[in-house]
Amino acid sequence: MNTVPPPRLFEPGPLLLATHNPGKIKEFRDLLEPFGVDIRSTEEFNIDDPPETETTFAGNARLKAQHACRIVGIPALADDSGLSVRGLDGQPGICSARWAGPERNFNLAMNKIRDGLIERFGSFEHADHHASFIAVLCLFWPDGHGEFFEGRVDGRLIAEPRGAGGFGYDPIFIPDGETRTFAEMQPREKSCLSHRARATCKLVDSCFPSMSS
Ligand code: IMP
Repeated sequence: MNTVPPPRLFEPGPLLLATHNPGKIKEFRDLLEPFGVDIRSTEEFNIDDPPETETTFAGNARLKAQHACRIVGIPALADDSGLSVRGLDGQPGICSARWAGPERNFNLAMNKIRDGLIERFGSFEHADHHASFIAVLCLFWPDGHGEFFEGRVDGRLIAEPRGAGGFGYDPIFIPDGETRTFAEMQPREKSCLSHRARATCKLVDSCFPSMSS
């Protein structure tokens, strides 16, 4: 009989956040610091993000966590995330950051989504507006062990960005059951619903149980 081994527990100590994205850093700090996690960031250690050469969220999350962990020698947490638009066959998906170009211009990326839907459906109004944010977290240890957690939030897209909060594609995404975009919500409200928050809850339940109780 095949038994799945239990997830590895995180021993109290520093946790390296393997991202340079200020939006993600803020959200992870808000999500994890209440559990007493001692968060360090790759900025402190001057580590670059590695090229995202894998074809899945999990593969790229692992690349980033492994890269930072190997350099600093402490457990590292990375996420790979993105927006999957049903009417565009799941794009931009793992290319969500790249759609914003080297300048990280998300107005450009949001326009590309709107224009892509108009091209495919004839008008934005008649397009399939369904989209999901997906995040896969990888917690990676110096001995090569990795744990993975996925979170997702479904919603719909609007043509014109609304709101000044959040980051990335937040101004065009309204989660199911809501009328406001993620960018119109307070950070705490987004944290109750987001793909990253859902994946982080699974991480905390599995790897930090004594901290979550
Ligand atoms: P990566 O995981 O660093 O490859 O980047 C993921 C990209 O997906 C981000 O740069 C954003 O464009 C987008 N993204 C991921 N999570 C969110 C979110 O919570 N809100 C808005 N955009 C997001």
